[in-house]
Amino acid sequence: MNWITKIIKAGEKIKSAIHKRASKEDIANSDWTSCCTGPILKKDLEDNLWVCNICGKHHRISCKQRFDIFFGKNNYEILKTPIPQDDPLDWEDSKKYIDRLKDARKKTNQECAVMTVRGQINGINITAGAINFEFIGGSIGSAEGEAIIYGVQHSIDNKNPFIFFPCGGGQRMHESPIALAQMTRTTLAINELKKNNIPYLVCFTDPTAGGITASFAMLGDVTLAEPNSLIAFAGRRVIQATVKEDLPENFQRSEYVQECGFVDLIVQRKDIKKKISSLLSILLKKNSDINNKLSDETTKTNLETTAKAS
Ligand SMILES: [Zn+2]
Repeated sequence: MNWITKIIKAGEKIKSAIHKRASKEDIANSDWTSCCTGPILKKDLEDNLWVCNICGKHHRISCKQRFDIFFGKNNYEILKTPIPQDDPLDWEDSKKYIDRLKDARKKTNQECAVMTVRGQINGINITAGAINFEFIGGSIGSAEGEAIIYGVQHSIDNKNPFIFFPCGGGQRMHESPIALAQMTRTTLAINELKKNNIPYLVCFTDPTAGGITASFAMLGDVTLAEPNSLIAFAGRRVIQATVKEDLPENFQRSEYVQECGFVDLIVQRKDIKKKISSLLSILLKKNSDINNKLSDETTKTNLETTAKAS
Protein backbone atom coordinates (compact mmCIF):
# COMPACT_ATOMS: atom_id res chain seq x y z
CA MET A 1 0.00 0.00 0.00
CA ASN A 2 1.56 3.31 -1.02
CA TRP A 3 1.15 6.62 0.80
CA ILE A 4 -1.58 7.85 -1.58
CA THR A 5 -3.83 4.83 -0.86
CA LYS A 6 -3.20 5.28 2.86
CA ILE A 7 -4.34 8.93 2.75
CA ILE A 8 -7.44 8.06 0.71
CA LYS A 9 -8.40 5.30 3.16
CA ALA A 10 -7.90 7.59 6.17
CA GLY A 11 -10.05 10.23 4.45
CA GLU A 12 -12.85 7.70 3.91
CA LYS A 13 -12.72 6.70 7.57
CA ILE A 14 -13.04 10.34 8.68
CA LYS A 15 -15.91 10.85 6.21
CA SER A 16 -17.84 7.82 7.46
CA ALA A 17 -17.24 8.82 11.11
CA ILE A 18 -18.67 12.28 10.40
CA HIS A 19 -21.68 10.98 8.47
CA LYS A 20 -22.44 8.05 10.77
CA ARG A 21 -25.92 8.51 12.21
CA ALA A 22 -26.59 7.48 15.77
CA SER A 23 -28.58 4.26 16.10
CA LYS A 24 -31.62 4.02 18.37
CA GLU A 25 -29.46 2.15 20.85
CA ASP A 26 -26.78 4.88 20.77
CA ILE A 27 -29.46 7.49 21.48
CA ALA A 28 -30.94 5.42 24.32
CA ASN A 29 -27.54 4.91 25.95
CA SER A 30 -26.40 8.50 25.54
CA ASP A 31 -26.32 10.99 28.42
CA TRP A 32 -27.97 13.48 26.11
CA THR A 33 -31.37 13.93 24.57
CA SER A 34 -32.88 16.80 22.64
CA CYS A 35 -35.60 19.38 23.15
CA CYS A 36 -36.50 22.89 21.90
CA THR A 37 -33.06 24.46 22.34
CA GLY A 38 -31.08 21.46 21.09
CA PRO A 39 -29.13 18.92 23.17
CA ILE A 40 -30.02 18.69 26.85
CA LEU A 41 -28.47 16.50 29.55
CA LYS A 42 -30.79 13.65 30.61
CA LYS A 43 -29.72 14.26 34.21
CA ASP A 44 -30.98 17.87 34.10
CA LEU A 45 -34.26 16.72 32.56
CA GLU A 46 -34.63 14.00 35.20
CA ASP A 47 -34.12 16.54 38.01
CA ASN A 48 -37.12 18.41 36.59
CA LEU A 49 -39.31 15.24 36.42
CA TRP A 50 -38.51 14.86 32.69
CA VAL A 51 -40.19 18.16 31.85
CA CYS A 52 -38.30 20.78 29.81
CA ASN A 53 -38.09 23.96 31.88
CA ILE A 54 -37.89 26.12 28.75
CA CYS A 55 -40.77 24.89 26.57
CA GLY A 56 -42.61 22.83 29.20
CA LYS A 57 -42.58 19.66 27.06
CA HIS A 58 -43.52 16.63 29.15
CA HIS A 59 -41.09 13.99 27.87
CA ARG A 60 -42.20 10.34 27.76
CA ILE A 61 -41.26 8.31 30.80
CA SER A 62 -41.28 4.61 31.72
CA CYS A 63 -43.70 3.04 34.21
CA LYS A 64 -41.01 2.96 36.92
CA GLN A 65 -40.15 6.61 36.37
CA ARG A 66 -43.87 7.42 36.52
CA PHE A 67 -44.41 5.61 39.82
CA ASP A 68 -41.16 6.96 41.30
CA ILE A 69 -42.56 10.46 40.71
CA PHE A 70 -46.09 9.58 41.86
CA PHE A 71 -45.37 7.51 44.99
CA GLY A 72 -41.75 8.46 45.74
CA LYS A 73 -38.68 6.51 44.65
CA ASN A 74 -39.34 2.74 45.03
CA ASN A 75 -42.09 3.59 47.51
CA TYR A 76 -44.54 1.09 45.96
CA GLU A 77 -44.86 -2.63 45.32
CA ILE A 78 -44.95 -4.01 41.78
CA LEU A 79 -47.69 -6.63 41.43
CA LYS A 80 -46.95 -9.80 39.52
CA THR A 81 -49.61 -10.07 36.83
CA PRO A 82 -50.45 -13.23 34.85
CA ILE A 83 -48.65 -13.73 31.53
CA PRO A 84 -50.66 -15.76 29.01
CA GLN A 85 -49.01 -17.77 26.25
CA ASP A 86 -46.69 -15.68 24.09
CA ASP A 87 -47.41 -15.28 20.39
CA PRO A 88 -50.65 -17.30 20.16
CA LEU A 89 -51.01 -16.62 16.39
CA ASP A 90 -47.40 -17.48 15.50
CA TRP A 91 -47.14 -14.03 13.90
CA GLU A 92 -44.31 -12.97 11.66
CA ASP A 93 -43.90 -9.80 9.58
CA SER A 94 -40.50 -8.20 8.94
CA LYS A 95 -39.52 -9.85 12.23
CA LYS A 96 -41.01 -12.64 14.35
CA TYR A 97 -43.40 -11.38 17.06
CA ILE A 98 -41.75 -13.65 19.58
CA ASP A 99 -38.43 -11.89 18.88
CA ARG A 100 -40.08 -8.48 19.23
CA LEU A 101 -41.37 -9.58 22.62
CA LYS A 102 -37.91 -10.75 23.68
CA ASP A 103 -36.34 -7.45 22.61
CA ALA A 104 -39.05 -5.39 24.34
CA ARG A 105 -38.61 -7.34 27.60
CA LYS A 106 -34.86 -6.85 27.50
CA LYS A 107 -35.16 -3.15 26.69
CA THR A 108 -37.80 -2.27 29.31
CA ASN A 109 -37.15 -4.89 31.98
CA GLN A 110 -40.92 -5.48 32.04
CA GLU A 111 -42.80 -8.69 31.16
CA CYS A 112 -45.53 -6.75 29.33
CA ALA A 113 -46.30 -3.13 28.48
CA VAL A 114 -48.56 -2.58 31.50
CA MET A 115 -47.14 -2.30 35.02
CA THR A 116 -49.51 -2.62 37.97
CA VAL A 117 -48.50 -1.51 41.46
CA ARG A 118 -49.85 -0.84 44.94
CA GLY A 119 -48.81 2.18 46.96
CA GLN A 120 -50.03 4.98 49.16
CA ILE A 121 -50.51 8.73 48.80
CA ASN A 122 -51.74 11.01 51.57
CA GLY A 123 -52.52 7.96 53.72
CA ILE A 124 -54.80 6.44 51.05
CA ASN A 125 -53.99 2.97 49.69
CA ILE A 126 -54.03 2.91 45.92
CA THR A 127 -53.76 0.40 43.10
CA ALA A 128 -52.25 1.99 40.00
CA GLY A 129 -51.31 1.03 36.48
CA ALA A 130 -49.26 2.59 33.70
CA ILE A 131 -48.20 1.70 30.17
CA ASN A 132 -44.62 1.80 28.89
CA PHE A 133 -44.47 3.23 25.36
CA GLU A 134 -41.06 1.62 24.85
CA PHE A 135 -42.70 -1.83 25.00
CA ILE A 136 -43.91 -2.31 21.37
CA GLY A 137 -45.39 1.20 21.29
CA GLY A 138 -47.39 0.64 24.46
CA SER A 139 -49.79 -1.58 22.52
CA ILE A 140 -52.33 -3.81 24.24
CA GLY A 141 -52.24 -7.58 23.81
CA SER A 142 -53.53 -10.39 26.01
CA ALA A 143 -50.83 -9.94 28.71
CA GLU A 144 -51.58 -6.22 28.96
CA GLY A 145 -55.33 -6.94 29.19
CA GLU A 146 -54.64 -9.44 31.98
CA ALA A 147 -52.47 -6.88 33.83
CA ILE A 148 -55.25 -4.26 33.70
CA ILE A 149 -57.91 -6.74 34.84
CA TYR A 150 -55.59 -7.98 37.61
CA GLY A 151 -55.19 -4.36 38.76
CA VAL A 152 -58.96 -3.84 38.79
CA GLN A 153 -59.50 -7.06 40.78
CA HIS A 154 -56.78 -5.99 43.23
CA SER A 155 -58.59 -2.65 43.65
CA ILE A 156 -61.91 -4.36 44.34
CA ASP A 157 -60.42 -6.93 46.74
CA ASN A 158 -58.61 -4.24 48.75
CA LYS A 159 -61.22 -1.49 48.24
CA ASN A 160 -58.45 0.70 46.80
CA PRO A 161 -59.13 3.44 44.26
CA PHE A 162 -57.72 2.58 40.83
CA ILE A 163 -55.48 5.12 39.07
CA PHE A 164 -54.30 4.59 35.50
CA PHE A 165 -51.73 6.42 33.35
CA PRO A 166 -52.37 5.31 29.77
CA CYS A 167 -50.27 5.84 26.66
CA GLY A 168 -49.70 3.73 23.56
CA GLY A 169 -50.87 3.26 20.02
CA GLY A 170 -53.83 0.95 20.61
CA GLN A 171 -54.40 -2.77 20.24
CA ARG A 172 -51.42 -4.93 19.22
CA MET A 173 -51.79 -6.10 15.62
CA HIS A 174 -49.55 -9.13 16.27
CA GLU A 175 -52.39 -10.58 18.37
CA SER A 176 -55.20 -9.28 16.09
CA PRO A 177 -58.61 -10.51 17.43
CA ILE A 178 -57.15 -11.49 20.80
CA ALA A 179 -55.88 -7.92 21.23
CA LEU A 180 -59.23 -6.48 20.14
CA ALA A 181 -61.02 -8.64 22.70
CA GLN A 182 -59.09 -6.79 25.44
CA MET A 183 -61.16 -3.67 24.68
CA THR A 184 -64.32 -5.47 25.81
CA ARG A 185 -62.63 -7.28 28.69
CA THR A 186 -61.07 -4.12 30.17
CA THR A 187 -64.33 -2.15 29.70
CA LEU A 188 -66.26 -4.84 31.59
CA ALA A 189 -63.60 -4.82 34.31
CA ILE A 190 -63.96 -1.04 34.77
CA ASN A 191 -67.75 -1.49 35.05
CA GLU A 192 -67.07 -3.80 38.01
CA LEU A 193 -65.16 -0.96 39.71
CA LYS A 194 -68.20 1.28 39.26
CA LYS A 195 -70.57 -1.40 40.62
CA ASN A 196 -68.36 -1.55 43.73
CA ASN A 197 -68.32 2.27 44.07
CA ILE A 198 -64.56 2.38 43.75
CA PRO A 199 -63.10 5.62 42.30
CA TYR A 200 -61.31 5.21 38.98
CA LEU A 201 -59.13 8.13 37.86
CA VAL A 202 -57.30 8.32 34.54
CA CYS A 203 -54.40 10.62 33.69
CA PHE A 204 -53.68 10.67 29.95
CA THR A 205 -50.04 10.90 28.92
CA ASP A 206 -48.50 11.43 25.51
CA PRO A 207 -49.45 9.71 23.17
CA THR A 208 -52.64 7.71 23.77
CA ALA A 209 -54.53 6.46 20.74
CA GLY A 210 -56.65 3.76 19.10
CA GLY A 211 -58.26 1.02 21.18
CA ILE A 212 -56.85 2.43 24.42
CA THR A 213 -58.89 5.63 24.10
CA ALA A 214 -61.78 3.54 22.76
CA SER A 215 -62.00 1.39 25.89
CA PHE A 216 -60.85 1.55 29.54
CA ALA A 217 -58.94 4.86 29.28
CA MET A 218 -62.03 6.96 28.54
CA LEU A 219 -64.09 5.57 31.40
CA GLY A 220 -62.51 7.42 34.34
CA ASP A 221 -64.73 9.11 36.94
CA VAL A 222 -62.41 12.09 36.52
CA THR A 223 -60.14 12.37 33.49
CA LEU A 224 -56.85 14.23 33.81
CA ALA A 225 -54.20 14.79 31.17
CA GLU A 226 -50.63 16.01 31.04
CA PRO A 227 -50.24 19.19 28.93
CA ASN A 228 -50.06 18.85 25.14
CA SER A 229 -50.52 15.06 25.16
CA LEU A 230 -51.82 13.48 21.99
CA ILE A 231 -55.20 11.89 22.77
CA ALA A 232 -56.81 10.38 19.70
CA PHE A 233 -58.66 7.47 18.20
CA ALA A 234 -57.76 7.68 14.48
CA GLY A 235 -54.74 9.69 13.32
CA ARG A 236 -54.93 13.32 12.23
CA ARG A 237 -54.19 12.55 8.55
CA VAL A 238 -56.93 9.91 8.35
CA ILE A 239 -59.48 12.35 9.78
CA GLN A 240 -58.31 15.19 7.53
CA ALA A 241 -58.66 12.95 4.47
CA THR A 242 -62.17 11.89 5.57
CA VAL A 243 -63.68 15.25 6.55
CA LYS A 244 -61.69 17.19 3.92
CA GLU A 245 -61.35 20.21 6.21
CA ASP A 246 -58.40 22.00 7.76
CA LEU A 247 -57.98 20.90 11.34
CA PRO A 248 -56.80 23.25 14.12
CA GLU A 249 -53.13 23.27 15.06
CA ASN A 250 -53.77 21.74 18.50
CA PHE A 251 -56.20 19.09 17.17
CA GLN A 252 -56.20 15.96 19.38
CA ARG A 253 -53.95 17.61 22.00
CA SER A 254 -55.01 17.66 25.69
CA GLU A 255 -56.14 21.31 25.58
CA TYR A 256 -58.32 20.72 22.48
CA VAL A 257 -59.72 17.48 23.88
CA GLN A 258 -60.57 19.34 27.10
CA GLU A 259 -62.51 21.97 25.09
CA CYS A 260 -64.48 19.09 23.52
CA GLY A 261 -65.33 17.79 26.99
CA PHE A 262 -63.39 14.53 27.04
CA VAL A 263 -60.79 15.72 29.56
CA ASP A 264 -61.69 17.39 32.87
CA LEU A 265 -58.34 18.77 34.00
CA ILE A 266 -54.93 19.40 32.53
CA VAL A 267 -52.28 18.95 35.17
CA GLN A 268 -48.52 19.57 35.16
CA ARG A 269 -46.53 16.45 36.02
CA LYS A 270 -45.26 17.99 39.28
CA ASP A 271 -48.86 18.58 40.45
CA ILE A 272 -50.44 15.21 39.53
CA LYS A 273 -49.88 13.59 42.92
CA LYS A 274 -51.35 16.58 44.79
CA LYS A 275 -54.33 16.81 42.44
CA ILE A 276 -55.15 13.09 42.55
CA SER A 277 -54.68 13.06 46.30
CA SER A 278 -57.18 15.89 46.82
CA LEU A 279 -59.67 14.36 44.34
CA LEU A 280 -59.51 11.04 46.21
CA SER A 281 -59.93 12.78 49.57
CA ILE A 282 -63.15 14.33 48.30
CA LEU A 283 -64.41 11.16 46.57
CA LEU A 284 -63.62 8.98 49.59
CA LYS A 285 -64.47 11.67 52.19
CA LYS A 286 -61.08 11.04 53.76
CA ASN A 287 -58.20 13.24 55.00
CA SER A 288 -59.62 16.19 53.12
CA ASP A 289 -59.29 19.85 54.16
CA ILE A 290 -62.83 20.43 52.87
CA ASN A 291 -64.24 17.50 54.85
CA ASN A 292 -62.29 18.47 57.98
CA LYS A 293 -63.59 22.04 57.67
CA LEU A 294 -67.15 20.77 57.15
CA SER A 295 -66.95 18.42 60.13
CA ASP A 296 -65.46 21.25 62.29
CA GLU A 297 -68.39 23.48 61.32
CA THR A 298 -70.90 20.72 62.08
CA THR A 299 -69.32 20.18 65.52
CA LYS A 300 -69.38 23.94 66.19
CA THR A 301 -73.08 24.20 65.20
CA ASN A 302 -73.93 21.18 67.33
CA LEU A 303 -72.11 22.68 70.34
CA GLU A 304 -73.90 26.02 69.87
CA THR A 305 -77.27 24.27 69.64
CA THR A 306 -76.53 22.28 72.80
CA ALA A 307 -75.40 25.45 74.62
CA LYS A 308 -78.60 27.30 73.62
CA ALA A 309 -80.79 24.39 74.67
CA SER A 310 -79.19 24.24 78.10
ZN1 LIG B 1 -37.95 22.13 25.46
